[in-house]
Amino acid sequence: MAIDLPTRARVVIVGGGVIGCSVAYHLTKMGWSDVVLLERKQLTSGTTWHAAGLVGQLRQSINMTQLARYTAELYRGLEAETGQATGYRQCGSLSLATTPGRMEELKRNASMAKVFGLAVNVVGPQEIHSLYPLANLEDVIGGIHIPSDGYANAVDITQALAKGARGRGARIFQDLKVTAIHHDGDRVSGVQTDRGRIEADYVVLCGGMWTRDLAAGIGVTVPLHACEHYYVLFQDVTGLTPDMPVLRDYDHCSYFKYDAGKLLVGAFEPHARPWGAEGIPDDFSFGEIAGDFGHFEPVLLDAMRRIPALEKAGIQKFFCGPESFTPDVRYHLGESTELKNCFVAAGLNSIGLQSAGESTCGETCRSRSTADICGRECRKAWGCCTRRIGLSVNMKRRAARASRRCMTA
Ligand SMILES: Cc1cc2nc3c(=O)[nH]c(=O)nc-3n(C[C@H](O)[C@H](O)[C@H](O)COP(=O)(O)OP(=O)(O)OC[C@H]3O[C@@H](n4cnc5c(N)ncnc54)[C@H](O)[C@@H]3O)c2cc1C
Repeated sequence: MAIDLPTRARVVIVGGGVIGCSVAYHLTKMGWSDVVLLERKQLTSGTTWHAAGLVGQLRQSINMTQLARYTAELYRGLEAETGQATGYRQCGSLSLATTPGRMEELKRNASMAKVFGLAVNVVGPQEIHSLYPLANLEDVIGGIHIPSDGYANAVDITQALAKGARGRGARIFQDLKVTAIHHDGDRVSGVQTDRGRIEADYVVLCGGMWTRDLAAGIGVTVPLHACEHYYVLFQDVTGLTPDMPVLRDYDHCSYFKYDAGKLLVGAFEPHARPWGAEGIPDDFSFGEIAGDFGHFEPVLLDAMRRIPALEKAGIQKFFCGPESFTPDVRYHLGESTELKNCFVAAGLNSIGLQSAGESTCGETCRSRSTADICGRECRKAWGCCTRRIGLSVNMKRRAARASRRCMTA
């Protein structure tokens, strides 16, 4: 089918996952109308379509927490703004501690959150029981409750962001692959697609796990690697109700989310398995990977101890999909040091849905942002990014280790 592909745009965004669509949404909100987004297959077809949907707001640093908090606020109003359902539900979240160290950490995070107005309640086993009667709390010391946390449908959120962007003039092309990025050795100048060339002042790489190879083609280093990421959907869980908060059991690497009448049990297992070491297959779209039930089983057994009702419930779906991880569990977000006006927003370490907020755009696309996600000046952070990881490291091993650390990060 013939398409009306522009020959010029102020900015070209590569990738139509939640991150690319959020960048398009926010750029148009800032008044940039000459925005083009190119997606190789269909919107959400990479990692986004299978996100479990958790939208938590408390992270370990102030910047990351502010970003997640903004994102939750954005999602709360997105359906009313765009008319596109998002499945956003503010059910709250509960995080459990089974050791004094973990409790101390949760309390510290709660204090940090309160500094900028996020309501976090430190709770004891009795309050936890009343909020989550299904949980076995015999080893639980306490936890924290965040009433304003929630979950959403990642596909619908992405479509809503895309709709908002389109409404303000962005053009989104699907089934259109970027095959190369043009530059003059100093500055990016456009992209090559399988249906023609587009000149651009800015290019933003939001290609998820494909980003490393795409960027490497122009000498830009984006260290990330895909790892397997698992969840299981249980059906017929006795006592399950839609108003239950998302439950996080950090000490046993698992989380539990109400999912349309079922209970989704996800995990960051202690030894993650890298995926796609030979490159991400070109035709991978809305794809699942086989995974290994045996690998996931120990986490699942712990989960069944936490929620005894699972023992009598049925497994409706065992799911494994790939997500990209960075070696130190920080996003790659900002202008590349190697090429001017070439920005990167990738390596979301399995929290891309809850992180796809304003800073993704603000930090990514303002030519001089003041701070990166770790709170450092952006350009310095980038220089540091590349060096802190090193160029000859075993990315697979490091990404797998990083995935393991995600639950505690
Ligand atoms: C099992 C699982 C559960 C998860 N649960 C959660 C959760 O509960 N909460 C949360 O916050 N996060 C969760 N995540 C993580 C979240 O899904 C990701 O962080 C997020 O979807 C990443 O979005 P993205 O836009 O960076 O990548 P993607 O969704 O992969 O988008 C990248 C897009 O770029 C396109 N692309 C690549 N190369 C090109 C090219 N050359 N030309 C054009 N297009 C290109 C791809 O086709 C793809 O559509 C989960 C992930 C997994 C695997």
